Amino acid sequence: MASKSTIRSEHDPLPFGTNPLFLEHCFSPAITIAAGPVNKAYIKTFGCQMNEQDSAQMLSLLSQAGYEKTVDPFDAGLVLLNTCSIREKAVHKLYSDLGRLRPLKDEDPDLVIAVAGCVAEQEKAKLQQRFPYLDLVFGPDHIRHLPQMLSEVKEERRKGQEGEAKAKRVLRTGFEKRQDFEFVNVLPKEEETPAKAFVNIQKGCDNICSFCIVPFVRGREVSRPHQEIIDEINGLVERGVQEVMLLGQNVNSYGLKNTGDITFAELLQEVADKTKLKRLRFTTSHPKDVKDDLIDQFANNPILLPQFHLPFQSGSDRILKLMRRQYTREQYMHIVNELKRRVPDIRFSTDIIVGFPTETDDDFEQTLTLMKEVGFDSSFSFIYSPRPYTSAVKIEDDVPQKVKAKRLQVLQDLDREICFEKNKAEVGRVEDVLIEDIYEQSENTLKGRTPHNKIVHFDAPGRTIGQIVPVKITKANPYSLFGEFAA
Ligand code: SF4
Repeated sequence: MASKSTIRSEHDPLPFGTNPLFLEHCFSPAITIAAGPVNKAYIKTFGCQMNEQDSAQMLSLLSQAGYEKTVDPFDAGLVLLNTCSIREKAVHKLYSDLGRLRPLKDEDPDLVIAVAGCVAEQEKAKLQQRFPYLDLVFGPDHIRHLPQMLSEVKEERRKGQEGEAKAKRVLRTGFEKRQDFEFVNVLPKEEETPAKAFVNIQKGCDNICSFCIVPFVRGREVSRPHQEIIDEINGLVERGVQEVMLLGQNVNSYGLKNTGDITFAELLQEVADKTKLKRLRFTTSHPKDVKDDLIDQFANNPILLPQFHLPFQSGSDRILKLMRRQYTREQYMHIVNELKRRVPDIRFSTDIIVGFPTETDDDFEQTLTLMKEVGFDSSFSFIYSPRPYTSAVKIEDDVPQKVKAKRLQVLQDLDREICFEKNKAEVGRVEDVLIEDIYEQSENTLKGRTPHNKIVHFDAPGRTIGQIVPVKITKANPYSLFGEFAA
């Protein structure tokens, strides 16, 4: 039988990719379960920032339950894959990882393998049927019950080993009632001084964009009580966090579904008034819910950074209608132009889908013209991926895959061109840069972000992660900047 050390090859030091999210967090003690003799946990996170934050919550809960982190799945007693199902490709990656976990399980039957996140919710029991060695499958609504679910896995094993009953696999999917959902508080450990943090303000989504699986795998929209958000940010600031990104699927509708709570614009104001946070961002927004009060916040809130991620998805009104986006190109441009007028230094980023069913050359051309008109500082673009449960799968897709691929290439070439021009225009400016990390290619060089969310590399002896320092931009690449410390 292969040993753990022989399973890992030189070419594949970490079998699930090289970017495992493994943040360590602490929280107020509440639940304790015996993690057993093997008490190290490895989490791999697929997908978006929401998933990263979910993983951070799970790590909080695991730490509370006595687990230690490991970045090596070969060293773990618990391997947890936190999944994404926004595109079909992500699901295939999960299946491939699960196949690769099989030898680990064969070698160590005590290993617990769990799948969390959107694919868990999408596939439910089918995942355990396909991969019978999967001990635990749970959807995003069940994260806060992770310690109890792991106890159940152990209890089922005990029953199986002692012949009491056949051990059952543990499965928790489905959604909690809106009023019963509770958010998990995540704070970094005292000894850590992270530069920035994510804070959940909302879960789920009540929009039914025709291409999107999120409402089916993350459930109804629930806003977190605003006092919890303020308390979490105050806790983060006390530990040295300078910048917070508020997270939700559609933050602009924050509070509107909870009667009696404040609106999103009011929440932004409260963060400025009731915390000592230096820099505030949020994602993601839906253009249909961007109102004047949010534009006012960009114009007046002293800690809200002048960078707005506003997905437009398509520049064609016909496609926007098929996507059920509930806004037109004109309405989108109205928001952009109003913001440019009120906040001249603002920058935009966006999400775009190409090759949506029935998209013509003319529809695509309108996407390109909108990109030029706005002048995005960055964009995330993808070929349409049909997802289960969504209504777009019923639209006959007459756009050949080759055409979709070509359009994506054209769009990404244009994006690169625009981003490069935008970055060149930054040269000579002095920006307040939050130092986030050491540059991977040189240990003397720091990596940080400008208020416009642009990555800058620069040398600043004696300066460290978490500090905000003035940096003069000296050189531009299409997707990053270089600068010099300007003290
Ligand atoms: S707003 Fe639309 S695209 Fe965004 S999560 Fe909700 S359904 Fe998906």
